[in-house]
Order: sequence, then C-alpha cells, then structure tokens
Amino acid sequence: MDHFPTIIIGGGPAGLMAAISGGGPETLLIEGGPKPGRKLLTTAAGQCNFTHEGTVPELLARYNGKERFLRPALFSFTNENLIAFFNERGIPSFVDEKGRYLPRSLSARDILHALINEAREKGTRFHQNDRVISVEKTDSGFRVITKLKEFSCEKLIIATGGRSFPKTGSTGEGARFARELGHSIVPLRPALTGVESDVFTLTSLAGLSFEEAGVEVFRQGKLAGRYKGNLLITHKGLSGPVVIDNSRDFREGDRLNLNFCGQNREKVNQKWSEELKEEGKQGIGSFMKNLGLPRKLIGELLGVIPPEKSLSQMTKGERKKLLGEMTEYPFSLDRLQGWNKAMVTTGGVETKEINPKTMESRLVPGLYFAGEVMDIDGDSGGFNLQAAFSTGFLAGMSLRKSVKE
Ligand SMILES: Cc1cc2nc3c(=O)[nH]c(=O)nc-3n(C[C@H](O)[C@H](O)[C@H](O)COP(=O)(O)OP(=O)(O)OC[C@H]3O[C@@H](n4cnc5c(N)ncnc54)[C@H](O)[C@@H]3O)c2cc1C
Repeated sequence: MDHFPTIIIGGGPAGLMAAISGGGPETLLIEGGPKPGRKLLTTAAGQCNFTHEGTVPELLARYNGKERFLRPALFSFTNENLIAFFNERGIPSFVDEKGRYLPRSLSARDILHALINEAREKGTRFHQNDRVISVEKTDSGFRVITKLKEFSCEKLIIATGGRSFPKTGSTGEGARFARELGHSIVPLRPALTGVESDVFTLTSLAGLSFEEAGVEVFRQGKLAGRYKGNLLITHKGLSGPVVIDNSRDFREGDRLNLNFCGQNREKVNQKWSEELKEEGKQGIGSFMKNLGLPRKLIGELLGVIPPEKSLSQMTKGERKKLLGEMTEYPFSLDRLQGWNKAMVTTGGVETKEINPKTMESRLVPGLYFAGEVMDIDGDSGGFNLQAAFSTGFLAGMSLRKSVKE
C-alpha cells in the first residue's frame, strides 16, 4: 500500500485549488477520469464563467441561505483574489454585461491548464484514470481504495463534486464516502436546471424570452414561492435565469403561474379599463403589444380572436380569459431536467458537520471537504466555481497549517 501524508480525491476546481494552496510533494491527487477538470471544460459552453462581480457580502447572498457557512471561505479567497490568481498566470479576464467574469481568451482550457500547471509546480502527484471506490478510517488516518490500488494517508480532502453531468466523472460518490465515514447527507437533487411539462401548450414558441417575467409556484394548491426575472420558453418547457436559478425550490407536480407582462393581473386589468375609457377603439393586439408582449405570443393567446378587435368589442369572458393567460398562464411541472442537464447539485454533505473556518469535518479529525460535494449551491453566473475555488483554497490552507502545528 502506497503512503502519502495527504490525499485529495477529485481533480475538479475544488481539488486542484486545494492542491495549490495546501499541497506539495507529499500530496497525491486521485482523479477518476482520464484527465482532471472535465466538468470545468464544459462551463459556460467552454468559456468558463469563473466568478461574478460584487463585494463578498453581495456574493454570499447568492448561495441559497449558506451565507454563514461560506463566509470564511469566500473571505479567505475572494473573487478579486481569483481574478488576480489567473491574471498573474497570464490569463486576463473581463466582466460581461451580466456581471460574469470570463477569461479574455474565452477558453476554459486556459483556466484548467493554469490550475494543473500550478498544482504540478507545487509538487502534487497525480494518479489519474482510477476511481476511488471506498474510504476507511484507520488508527493513523485513512485507507483509500481505488479500482486498481490501495493508498494510506493521514489527511484526506474529499473534493468529488456533485452528481450532475455524470459523464464528466462527477457521480455523487463523495457523498457515499462521507456517509460511510459517519456524516449526514442532505439528499441530492438536480439544480440550476430547466423544467418540462407534457401538456404545456406554448412549446411552439420555443426561443421566446421575457425580460421581467413573473413565476408563482403553487404546491398542493398553496403558494410556495414567487420569483421574477428572465424567462425562456423551450421545446419541452421553460428555462432562463428565473427558472434555472430557482429550480432548487421547484418540485414535480408543482403548478407554475407565468406572468408574461411583468405587472400583476390587477394592474393590467386597470390599464385595460383606462385604455377602454380613453381609446376604446384600440385593437386588442395593439393593447397587448403595448404591454411588451411579443407578436408570436399575442397570436397564440388570441387564438381565433382577431387582433384588430377593439377593446370595446371584447366580451367580459374574453377579457377575463386573456387577463388570466397574460398574467397567470398555467404550467404543470412534470419534471425537472435530470442529472444530464442540471448544472449543479443541491444537497450533499451536511454543512453543520463541517467547520466553516477550516473545512475540516467536525466528526472525523483529518478529514476535509471542498466544493460541490458539500450541501452548497449557488445561482448561475460564476458563483459555483467561486465556491469551489474558495472552499478548495481554505481546505488546503487549513490542512497545511494543521500539519505544521
Ligand atoms: C454544463 C455546466 C456548465 C456550468 N457552468 C458554470 C459556470 O459557467 N460557472 C460556474 O460557476 N459554475 C458552472 N457550473 C458548475 C461548476 O462546474 C461546478 O459547480 C464545479 O465544477 C464544482 O467543482 P468541484 O471541484 O466541486 O467538482 P467537479 O468539477 O465536479 O470535480 C469533481 C472531480 O472529482 C472526480 N471524482 C468524482 N468521484 C471520484 C472518485 N470516486 N474517484 C476519483 N475521482 C472522482 C470527478 O471525475 C471530477 O473530476 C457548470 C456546470 C455544468 C455541468
């Protein structure tokens, strides 16, 4: 059995950054895939949106209530530190109109090379193409068993990622290792994903997006959430930031009410009454266009009603139906897009059992966690990679400090 003082399982952004901040010749990084960072290469369609602009407190608000847990990590390695890290290694970046940071080369490969080179320079040894199948606690540390070999170590960092995009090597096994070592696991669910419906009638409008749409979520008849933002119609359902960023709160069987107008039913109704008084001859089509609705949607919602039909000619029933469809269009959520489409995993190793100041397990001394294997997930826009880098950095640093002490 080969012995290394430190072993890191997982060569994603979290594991690589842990190797950089805490590793050295005494560290072995085990990556199950043929190469590290395969998921990183898929990020932002290969362009790698690695962080987001804003102060650390602003960033912390984007992690689904995990602000307190992530605070020490994000302060120990901030978005500015990350931008500088890549800049110093010849990868300048820019911020786009949405506040997302990307490398100027728009190449995730550049980002990955910088990480691997830096980890190698620090002396980290890589053992690739061999998955860890189990981890056991021993008197002096841990036994790490892979398909082909067996290793022992004193300190262990689990950085195996979540379960989404399993073809990149992230299959959720880290949660199993953590459970076998005594940790609680918050059930894993796909997040940052679109939603599908078998009965959605607007799929012919796939590609249409609405800047300030509203989404109300009803569960067993009760309002369970209310969201606002950019909504996209797809061939099978819905996507866009308002759906993707809040998908962690959605469940199969939910009914979503879609508001395409950006103002509520009462306001639109009031506008209708005002227009009727002032300009009753106005066609219903032009009224809807003035509400900001796109032509294709207007046609779809009007159905057999001609767009020239004046507001004063519209019947009470037609008015009620149209108001409902513009501001509360029903969508039955049959399924969230699954693990092959979701960008992140919500759930994972229970964060209450991890010391946020060190990333060390509160239950098993010498065991550390980094990245998405923990129950942390952020909004889209670079927050997830920032969390992977910051927690990886902190885990590596704390481990190194603990060895020196
Ligand atoms: C399509 C897509 C686009 C995305 N775009 C963005 C974006 O633009 N910005 C952003 O911030 N986030 C984005 N994300 C999310 C982001 O990629 C992840 O949050 C991030 O990669 C998590 O890093 P990690 O190191 O924790 O885990 P991962 O990147 O998943 O890495 C874990 C590594 O561990 C290895 N591993 C797993 N199990 C074992 C085992 N048993 N033995 C050995 N090795 C193992 C895996 O092979 C993998 O290489 C995107 C995700 C996807 C799927």
